[in-house]
Amino acid sequence: EDREALAQWTGPGATSDGFRVKILANVADGQSARSSATGPVEGVGLFRTELCFLNRTEEPTVDEQAEIYAEVLQAFHDDRYVVVRTLDAGSDKPVAFATMPGEENPALGVRGLRLSFSNPSLLERQLDAIAAAAESTGTETWVMAPMVATVAEAREFSAAVRGRGLKSGVMVEVPSAALMAHQMLEEVDFLSIGTNDLTQYTMAADRMATDLAHLTDPWQPAVLQLVAITAEAGRQADKPVGVCGEAAADPLLACVLVGMGITSLSMAAAAAKPVGARLASITHDTCLEAAEAALAAVDPASARAAALAVLGG
Ligand code: PEP
Ligand code: MG
Repeated sequence: EDREALAQWTGPGATSDGFRVKILANVADGQSARSSATGPVEGVGLFRTELCFLNRTEEPTVDEQAEIYAEVLQAFHDDRYVVVRTLDAGSDKPVAFATMPGEENPALGVRGLRLSFSNPSLLERQLDAIAAAAESTGTETWVMAPMVATVAEAREFSAAVRGRGLKSGVMVEVPSAALMAHQMLEEVDFLSIGTNDLTQYTMAADRMATDLAHLTDPWQPAVLQLVAITAEAGRQADKPVGVCGEAAADPLLACVLVGMGITSLSMAAAAAKPVGARLASITHDTCLEAAEAALAAVDPASARAAALAVLGG
């Protein structure tokens, strides 16, 4: 029966009683965008632009960047939309022309938006290229920054993006951003929670450290609390708050996130069907109940068990 539901689910994302949740794809380049576009997704919730440049020693020109971004946007120009993330270079994703060399503690160093503190023109050129690609393809384009820690960063980034006629957002990957979600939302049009980094920074545990897998678990109640705070701020501001980390690809956790008020779930394209089908099998009230149960837990295993008890196997 489950297999049948899985095969039959073709989107768009909604609970069984019609509460809409956008199911989106995470993409890395034109090729992954085109293959994701054939699936049941309403757009792209995370285009990781740094992945286009991992093997480049020099910064591509604005024209060259615009061409690369346009390939992704073009795949969704049929009334869907794409959230482009500006360069998240540094830490686990070094980009030769952008990353600060020789940092002792790169995960806590100059990565993501922080690169533009000392090199603002790098971000300006990328935003010019994104705007050009949006213009040439006609695809609805939202732009967000990674590794935002302060409201001032969100304000400055937002001005630069809106100045180019695009919707602006920031990622919530640092606990400070989650705790300030309400104020962040006064500066931007949307938030997107990166649960991979939010978990890493909340638990002070390297996301790549297999020995610390019990800590780098998005079911950690502290992480769930921060997601809930962020989602609630979005609900109050009536602005979208999505999740684009691995948590969104877990069908059980996805239902909990929806119950917290998350408005979109972005994931590897292969996860869209399992998540969409699971969501379609339960009511919105059940999601609310599952979120409440998970948030009452004090460890990841009991959070998951509590959600499972509500949502059913
Ligand atoms: C995240 O941190 O959850 C995220 C979506 O960004 P990335 O995995 O690219 O760091
Ligand atoms: Mg991240």
